[in-house]
Order: sequence, then structure tokens, then C-alpha cells
Amino acid sequence: MNMRIDTDFPGGNLLVKEIRAGEAVVAVDQRDTPSPWFYWCFRAAFQEKGEYRFRFDQPNKIGTRGPAVSYDNGITWEWLGRACVDDSGCSFVYSHDGKGGPVIFCMGMQYQPVHLDRFLEAHADSPFLRKEILCRTRKGREVELLTIREPGVKSPHKLLLTSRHHCCEMMATYVLEGILLEALENAEVRRTFEVFAVPFADKDGVVDGDQGKGRAPHDHARDYGESPIYPETASIMKLMKEESIDFCLDLHCPWIHGKDNEAIYFVGPPLRSMEEKTKVFAEFLRKEAEGIVPYDGEILLYGTSWNTGANYIQGSPMRDWAIRQPFNRFGASMEIPYANAGETTFEPRMMRNFGRCIARAMIRFSQEIKK
Ligand SMILES: [Zn+2]
Repeated sequence: MNMRIDTDFPGGNLLVKEIRAGEAVVAVDQRDTPSPWFYWCFRAAFQEKGEYRFRFDQPNKIGTRGPAVSYDNGITWEWLGRACVDDSGCSFVYSHDGKGGPVIFCMGMQYQPVHLDRFLEAHADSPFLRKEILCRTRKGREVELLTIREPGVKSPHKLLLTSRHHCCEMMATYVLEGILLEALENAEVRRTFEVFAVPFADKDGVVDGDQGKGRAPHDHARDYGESPIYPETASIMKLMKEESIDFCLDLHCPWIHGKDNEAIYFVGPPLRSMEEKTKVFAEFLRKEAEGIVPYDGEILLYGTSWNTGANYIQGSPMRDWAIRQPFNRFGASMEIPYANAGETTFEPRMMRNFGRCIARAMIRFSQEIKK
């Protein structure tokens, strides 16, 4: 039983150590991330019907719903489920029926530029949505800046949305897309906010399939300050200053499983006044999300669990820089799990719906803090 593995496509990441009959021993390609991380994405072609095993050389590489799998070249995704994962959690089995083309496996549900392009194509006729170029990456790629504006209306607030400061955090971008969808379809959002969005804050990492998290010497989410080393972060700070953007939301995904990683939560800010505002927003969001996505209003307060000063020694994330700017009213950072909140399994449609909840909660919240 032979198989062929490759990573020669956007987002591809895997090291193949050994392939023997029906089994591949593989490893995550850490690239420039020194500490073990868990992003991988590969394509496999199978010669014949049968059971094929993929064994990682290290633990904690397969998530709570098993691998995500795509049969249409990475466009749509489903979970293979935990039943195909062995007890050690290090390997999974794929049963190939002998039909169809290559299959792409990934640790989560992929969101690549092709997905953003599909979103933009679907709304090409929108009078509100525009795609601009924020900047070019170190490797010369264009970094998308999307704007949503109601023509002829001066909205009282400006909202910046970002994801993929850690490029492997794919599910967060489905949530971002949902916020944009609500802004396109709900005039109240546009009359409250002029919306700016940078879906791929580390575009090179997204396309190259890097871990991104904990990159040496520091990653994009530790680059906000006096001397940024990435063009994207420098451009985001410039944009915020030039536009006096008063609301911002930075979307992330947490670690791969366990406590703090299988629930949606806000990362509590280091400023007390902002912590209070985050609590208010979290409560609006909890109500909006009821019956759509389990979100119990959780905030991981600053000073607890991993959210302490030690986590930010290398530098500041966007939120921490933004909330210290004179024009800022609200900055928040959220963690969206890769695959589930408790018993609830995530998939793109649910994540977009959660994004819509965020947009609606943001309207109520902006009205509340004005009082
Ligand atoms: Zn992150």
C-alpha cells in the first residue's frame, strides 16, 4: 500500500521522516519557532483502497476533533473525528475507499487567501466593501486591507479587525469573516462603525504554512512598539494613528486542547479601565451568542493562567499597544478554539455566525459606553 505525501500548496507544512507500507512517520515543520507547536497541513495521494496511518513523532499535534480533511483541494473542510486517533494521541488512521483524488489533512480547518478571495468575489457588487493593499510583506506579498463604509454616512466610530498575527490560527479568520458579513448586511453596523480588517496580519506565514507562534526573534503579536520588525505591524500602527481608529479586536486561537483551550474567551487587558469595558462587552456578546455558540462571558483576567507579564516579555500585542493610544476607546483580544467549545464542535458556518454576534454586540456596547 503506497501513498505519496506533499506540501507544495499554500499553507503546506510537514516533515516526512519515513514511509513504509501504509504508514507514514511525520513531524511538524517548526520553521523559525523554537518551542514545539502543532501546525501541519499536507496532501496525500493513495494508490489503493485501505487503511493508512499517519504517526507524529511527538505528542500534542492532533486536536480534539481529530484532523480536518478536505476532498476539494482545501476549499471545504470536515473533521475526521477523534475515533481515528490512537490512544497515545500521536497517530490517526485514514480509510481510503480507493476512489477520488488526493486528500488534504490539516490540524484545523484551513483559511487561506483562496477563502478570502471567494468571500470578496461573493460580495464584488457590494457598494460598501473595498479591498485595498495595507502594505507588502518581507517577501513582497500584498497584505489585504478590507474596508466597509456606508457611502455618504460618517460613522461615529472606526473598528479595526485583525487575525493571524499568529499565522497558524485559522479558525479566527472565519469569525472575522462573519463580522464582515454582518457589517455588509446590517446597516446599523455600518452606521455605527467604519470597518477596517486585516485578515492576514502575517501573510507570509499564512501562505508559507509557518507556525508563526513564538517565531524568533519574536512573532507578529509581540511586535507593537517603537521599532517593529514586520512591515504588517508597522503599517497597522500607522493606519490606526492616521485614521484614529477607536475600536479594535484582535482574533486568535489558543493552544491545541485542554483547559483554557476548549472555550471561547477574551484575553483580559493589563489596564483596569479596559478590563471593566471588556466585561461589559463580554456580557453583550454572551447574550447575542445564546443558542448560536457556547460563550459564557469568560475573560481570562490579566495576571491569571498564562496571561501574565511573563507572556509579553518579548513585546506587546496589538491590543496592548492600541489601548494606550489617546484615540482608543476599546481594544480587545479573543481566543477562538481550533475545534470546539466543550461538547460543541466548531465549523466555518458556526464561526461566521459567532462573528455576526460580535458585530451586533459591538453596536450595543458602543451605545452603552457612550452613556
Ligand atoms: Zn495567537
